[in-house]
Amino acid sequence: MTAAETAPAETAPAETAPAETAPRSAYDLTREELAEILAGEPPYRVRQVWDGLHRRALRPREMTELPLALRVRLEEALPAALSEVARRSADGGDTVKWLFELADGNRVETVLMAYPDRVTVCVSTQAGCAMGCAFCATGQRGFERHLSAGEIVEQVVAGIRAARPRRLSNVVFMGMGEPLANYGRTWAAIERIHDDLGISARHLTLSTVGLVPGIRRLARATLPVNLALSLHAANDELRDRLVPMNRRYPIAALAEACAEYVGTSGRRLSIEWALIDGTNDRPSDMAELAAFARPLGAHVNLIPLNPTPGYALGGSSPRKAADARDTLVRLGVNATVRATRGVEIDAACGQLAARGVQPVVDLPRVG
Ligand code: SAH
Ligand code: SF4
Repeated sequence: MTAAETAPAETAPAETAPAETAPRSAYDLTREELAEILAGEPPYRVRQVWDGLHRRALRPREMTELPLALRVRLEEALPAALSEVARRSADGGDTVKWLFELADGNRVETVLMAYPDRVTVCVSTQAGCAMGCAFCATGQRGFERHLSAGEIVEQVVAGIRAARPRRLSNVVFMGMGEPLANYGRTWAAIERIHDDLGISARHLTLSTVGLVPGIRRLARATLPVNLALSLHAANDELRDRLVPMNRRYPIAALAEACAEYVGTSGRRLSIEWALIDGTNDRPSDMAELAAFARPLGAHVNLIPLNPTPGYALGGSSPRKAADARDTLVRLGVNATVRATRGVEIDAACGQLAARGVQPVVDLPRVG
């Protein structure tokens, strides 16, 4: 059997699927399409509504500078793509998780995290995920569909609205789905977030399981977004088991693509490593990780695994996590242990969608 046969389908019902016929979100519309909707109105309305949607993150009904009849018409012509099914908060309100339903009934999750120095929203790029990582709740759920660019942008808009009076500063593409398996729509969302929502590219971070063609494409992309690589194992034997996509893009290929990314873009690479007790938290694992990370000058984020229903193993203890970090630092690698947010509301990494199949009455709306 070839590697390609044993790895999951990379883009599943792929990017080659026919383009959506109708825009899924107001944020999928181009300015020209908005102008068509506003035909017959004074020309300045296009800029007014565009700024209302983007710069001010308003729904049409809230654009009080517009005549009432137009607001009513636009509320219908520009329906929200995401309807809030549930919202929960944790960490004293500093973490908020939404469960959103899309027009076709698929569900995705978005998480907002407020820190003293920044407010970050974590967005989904697909409903489900085809990559099948064993330890990840989204992977356990399987692939449903790609999100449109507008559906991704709308999650950021929800974050902007909920962050107020603070300003949303950062976006991480670390929610449900593999962003590089939905490259075109994710990139279109990044451009809209940068150009129209006004968030700096250096405050955008895309996380990937390691799709080599996508990493190479990103290396040459025009906006300097950050890249995070979810490595979790730095030898093929272990990584094949944890991350099935490794069978298609093994460690050596990944290292080469990452070197190209760092060399071509001059941008920072970070490595995500979910610490799994007794599996990838030993000194020998850290030595392999250091050998991968050091030549790339990458920063390593160690995140004790969050338990998920479909995976038997648990996260490393705080003590073992600190030891792993110290080993890396001794080996000359910049490393931190990342505290996870919102564990009690399943908002932590890899827990999104853990409850997706349960009735939403389990998730009472808060606030
Ligand atoms: N598909 C992309 C982005 C979404 S997953 C990727 O894999 O990078 C976001 C991050 O959560 C990844 O680093 C992923 O490995 C991590 N993750 C998934 N399940 C986890 C779990 N149970 N505990 C801790 N981190 C997890
Ligand atoms: Fe998909 Fe990322 Fe989860 Fe792997 S870790 S299944 S790539 S969302």
